[in-house]
Amino acid sequence: MRITETFRSIQGESRFAGWPCFFIRTTGCPLRCRWCDTAYAFYGGEEQPVDSLVEQAVESGTPLVEITGGEPFVQPELPELAQKLIANGKTVLIETSGGFSIPSGLNRECHLIVDLKPPGSGMEQWMKHEHFADLGQRDEIKAVVAGRDDFDWVTEKLGQWGLWDRVPVTVSPVFGECDPRLLARWVLDSGLPIRVQVQLHKILFDPMMRGV
Ligand code: SF4
Repeated sequence: MRITETFRSIQGESRFAGWPCFFIRTTGCPLRCRWCDTAYAFYGGEEQPVDSLVEQAVESGTPLVEITGGEPFVQPELPELAQKLIANGKTVLIETSGGFSIPSGLNRECHLIVDLKPPGSGMEQWMKHEHFADLGQRDEIKAVVAGRDDFDWVTEKLGQWGLWDRVPVTVSPVFGECDPRLLARWVLDSGLPIRVQVQLHKILFDPMMRGV
């Protein structure tokens, strides 16, 4: 499996935020979000056998493992890796761009954190209803917004696709670009079931640093 890095850190962007977590960052992503903070994962990396990744995750000692990218959904070995991590007692999170459907054969005990990318990202054309149609309560939709127009687009899209009652939703501000206090106000005014979050790992660690 093509891997950019593995590391132990604090989960920063989901209902698991705050917990120690072992991260497996895959290499390669077909999208090019305007505010991507992991462009170093687009190319390069090294081949690592699935069993070696599982061994590292077990040695890390954290019950939580997140497979992120890059874009994990384009990795053919993803179902095997997820299955083996679950078999070793891990709680598995997979963070994905929203640009792809759930791979066939993926164990649905995994918690999927699926981005819904608004126009500010420059990638909204990748967002298709079918990529979100099979999500449920153990998953979550995460929208990172640059401003009010993005926030309105996200709430409209989730309504159109009938997802409010089916999948938990979190919204976070683009780091350094959207004021989190404004976002909190929009959420309160909307009356919608949205959880506000900030990128915790960027507050705890240097936001420009890799492997945090
Ligand atoms: S989907 Fe993720 S890795 Fe890919 S360009 Fe967007 S932010 Fe970067």
